[in-house]
Amino acid sequence: MSETLPGDDADLIIRGGRIHTLDPAVGTVTALAVRDGVIMAHDAAAEALGAREVVELDGRTAIPGINDAHLHGAWLGARWPHLFFSDTAPEDQPSGTLVTTAGERRSALRRAWRLLAELGITSYTEPGVGPGEDAGETGCFGTDMLDTYCELHREGAQTSRVTLLRLFGTIDGESTLDDFERGILTPPPATDRRWLAIPGVKIFADGIPPLATAWVEEPYADGTTGALLTRGGTDPLSAFQRMVELAATRGMQIAVHATGDRSIAEFLAVLERLRDAPSPAGPHYVVHGDLATPEQIARMREVDAGFAVQPLIAAHTHSWAAVQLGEARLAAAWPLAEMLTSGTLTTVTSDAPIASPDWRRGLDAALALLTDAGVVDDAETRGRLLRTMTVDAARQDGASTWKGSLAVGKVADLTVLEEDPLTPGRTFSSLGVAMTVVDGRTVFSRD
Ligand SMILES: [Zn+2]
Repeated sequence: MSETLPGDDADLIIRGGRIHTLDPAVGTVTALAVRDGVIMAHDAAAEALGAREVVELDGRTAIPGINDAHLHGAWLGARWPHLFFSDTAPEDQPSGTLVTTAGERRSALRRAWRLLAELGITSYTEPGVGPGEDAGETGCFGTDMLDTYCELHREGAQTSRVTLLRLFGTIDGESTLDDFERGILTPPPATDRRWLAIPGVKIFADGIPPLATAWVEEPYADGTTGALLTRGGTDPLSAFQRMVELAATRGMQIAVHATGDRSIAEFLAVLERLRDAPSPAGPHYVVHGDLATPEQIARMREVDAGFAVQPLIAAHTHSWAAVQLGEARLAAAWPLAEMLTSGTLTTVTSDAPIASPDWRRGLDAALALLTDAGVVDDAETRGRLLRTMTVDAARQDGASTWKGSLAVGKVADLTVLEEDPLTPGRTFSSLGVAMTVVDGRTVFSRD
């Protein structure tokens, strides 16, 4: 099928290789044309146009730009090249305040954006920046950082599109109902949502299984069950329920850090009660969902909510979690295969700088989770995984109508790879990133 938008010449034509649009109605094409940052034609219709710039793929493969739906951009830029799970020795890990001045905050974001462009990442979700962290240790998550985002956004300095969730408690820690309520009553800054969308809030419900801080139904090896991190109201649960209710009834998108089955159950229960709340800009979702049960995954789809998961963190923490969870629960943890077959919205994300921001490593870890569950490594499975970081991530952003695939009419955000990522039998990590294009503009080129 060859489609074209009305008009004359293109700004950019990409041709001479495979272009996986990841739009099921279009499939794979051999050329595409871009004008004003938008894809205007495919195949012969694209080749027939004149263009100011032509990129010859020379047998390379283009895919939609990668969208990491959970990545702490400011923190990553401030810490780079030091990740939590990496070769950096504990004594060499950055600690204390990482950024203090406006200049340092700007540099951190610019460093992150350069790195992401080199990796082929064109969009990400910055999950949690706001007043809850104004006294935070790192300086990476407070109101000042939100202001820096807005400043660089207004200057047109972004090379990554950003979806930012506001934070009214501490990162990976407690929040109070009073702070939350006061916070969401303040309007978010006005921005162009194609570059900096601020559709909702992040809430921390619990911790993580390896530390026995995920809130679970069945006790850990040490007899504890973890607990909620929310405070205020009559008890932590009522505070949590009220927070979700306050944000949902205002049409805000809600991302809840929930790793334990009990926290996921409580989030689901509120969402099921609030079915008639106004539709948020993007679907609500659980961040992590390590111990989600098959039943919860199915119910999550029923309320149009999803999961943002981190297979690479699962790989790093697997044996660590085993001590607390025991073999049976460990085998059922990180149920990626279940999530993908259920049809529940699922995004594969990095949570960088916890794990590497290199999406290729994340997809290798995801593929390992799937093949361990009996899924075959073939072009279909690989296409499904790529969708979690493109099409599905755009859906999480509430941006399916204009990004995520390379259909005509969508923005020209794309990544050129040296090899075809759909070819089974080789790691995603072995794929070279040759070029990254955002909004029709080349933001990284290997040559
Ligand atoms: Zn995170």
